[in-house]
Amino acid sequence: MRITAIKEIAVPLEGNIANAFVSFADHDVSLVAIETDVIRQGKPVTGYAFNSIGRYAQGGILRDRMLPRLKAAQAASLLDPSGETFDASKVLQTVLRNEKPGGHGDRAGAAGAIELAIWDLNAKLLDEPAHVTISRHFKREGKQRSVNVYAAGGYYYESDNTQRLVDELNDYRALGFDAFKIKIGGADLNTDLARIEAALGVAGDGQRLAVDANGRFDLPTALAYAKAITPFDLRWFEEIGDPLDFDLNRKIAEAYEGRIATGENLFSVQDVKNLALFGGMRIGKDIFQMDPGLAYGLGEYARMIDLMERCGFHRAQAHPHGGHLINLHIAVGLELGGCEAYPGVFKPIGGYPVGCGIGGGVVRPTDAPGFGLEQKDDLRPWLERLAG
Ligand code: MG
Repeated sequence: MRITAIKEIAVPLEGNIANAFVSFADHDVSLVAIETDVIRQGKPVTGYAFNSIGRYAQGGILRDRMLPRLKAAQAASLLDPSGETFDASKVLQTVLRNEKPGGHGDRAGAAGAIELAIWDLNAKLLDEPAHVTISRHFKREGKQRSVNVYAAGGYYYESDNTQRLVDELNDYRALGFDAFKIKIGGADLNTDLARIEAALGVAGDGQRLAVDANGRFDLPTALAYAKAITPFDLRWFEEIGDPLDFDLNRKIAEAYEGRIATGENLFSVQDVKNLALFGGMRIGKDIFQMDPGLAYGLGEYARMIDLMERCGFHRAQAHPHGGHLINLHIAVGLELGGCEAYPGVFKPIGGYPVGCGIGGGVVRPTDAPGFGLEQKDDLRPWLERLAG
């Protein structure tokens, strides 16, 4: 068995929205296809994946560095001992050849897209959903069939912000969601408090509403927000300061009784170790949001979960960032606490196909082989374009 073609394309994200730090108007995502010489129903078995939302496509790193290394590799060097599937860790090692340790930036997303495409490919070769392949590989019981989900959105728009926010959350409620996350930090504190109160009018309960500052706040601002939102008893307060400012995170954890969440911009086990050791994260309470597609893929992510557990945290405290099918399969396969959903933004990467049965606060993968990306009507044309 061997790889016969590797392709990549940049997929633009739909929606003209902004959080406290960035506008997503020109964001895109790298979609990768890895084709094999295994033919089923007249077509080569092909693995698809993407780096996640929020950090741009990585076509340059893929084309100039990683894909040539993968194409040059001996076919047998990429297989697991059975010879029937690929070894994702060997593929990752191959694409990272001659890369120095540390400085985990955009290359972590480029490598993540390739590594995750191998998991999609392996699950298809085994003709099973990716969460089954994942739970077997990582020796989980695989009893979990669905995970908790909330609708992430509530971005800043150019006009009619508060009413538009309420309308948006009501739309998510109509789709079956009963918990929500909105952005803060893109306006002043009083405006944001009004947004939170308006959102609570839809959510009904603080535990059904999280807020996300996208790394915007310095310590005095963070403390002021923490004090002001304490009475709301919110689900969590997300990415409060710079993602690498573990000192700030610890100070907020010491001052704020509510749950905090962070980690979506940590791209390596070592960064997560620093968060676990020095960030003040509380066992059994705070939420870790690392995202495999931004962080070298599933192998590195599984090591992050191991690290969390060695530090006393529970895997139920892990809720990967991203809101898409790949992380849904990973959350189910690794028995994590839940995952997010982007029902209204970041198409065609975000969101779940109808078969995922969102309702009652949970979402479940379908029985499609692999990650089931082919079931997304808005993404399928991009997959076909890549395959063509
Ligand atoms: Mg976030």
